[in-house]
Amino acid sequence: MGSSINDLEKRIAAFIPDPKQEHDPFILACAKEAFAALREGNFPVGSVLVRDGQVIESGHNRVFTPYFRSDLHAEMSVITAAEDRLRGDPTVHSGSVLYSSLEPCLMCALRLLNSGVGAVFYGAPDPKGGSAAVVDQLPVAREHMGQEARARFAPASCSDELKKLCADLLSPVADKLCALLEQRN
Ligand SMILES: [Zn+2]
Repeated sequence: MGSSINDLEKRIAAFIPDPKQEHDPFILACAKEAFAALREGNFPVGSVLVRDGQVIESGHNRVFTPYFRSDLHAEMSVITAAEDRLRGDPTVHSGSVLYSSLEPCLMCALRLLNSGVGAVFYGAPDPKGGSAAVVDQLPVAREHMGQEARARFAPASCSDELKKLCADLLSPVADKLCALLEQRN
């Protein structure tokens, strides 16, 4: 496992954003956050909030460490931190874009819709827990993201290596962490 984590760190350090892939810098930032989560023993997922081309908030999953918090998925951490810092009105996220290393789950999809962010893009799909396929059917989707919510909740335009990296970051620990949650039943 150690070498695999080292390999992931090397791949992140070696990656150079492709100028033709507009989301590369932001998904790379998500991957770095996901790596920080991996080091801590949390789900290796990272997110950044971007406004006018600048990252204004970044964070990662903190479900397991320092103590169990069922709500602290990466997207939730980032939106909560931004709202606490900006202390704005309900338009505070208008025009902002949330990037995540992994396709958001249903809890995060609803939060992101409620937040009013303009769009959500992710590095790796999540076949088990992702919500992009159903986002159009969520009760608040059309009110908050317009008629084509799914078009604004989509895979990032980023390099293939970055997509693979976002998925590979999960591999050292995801099964073990999922098993911890399943054991509760
Ligand atoms: Zn989530």
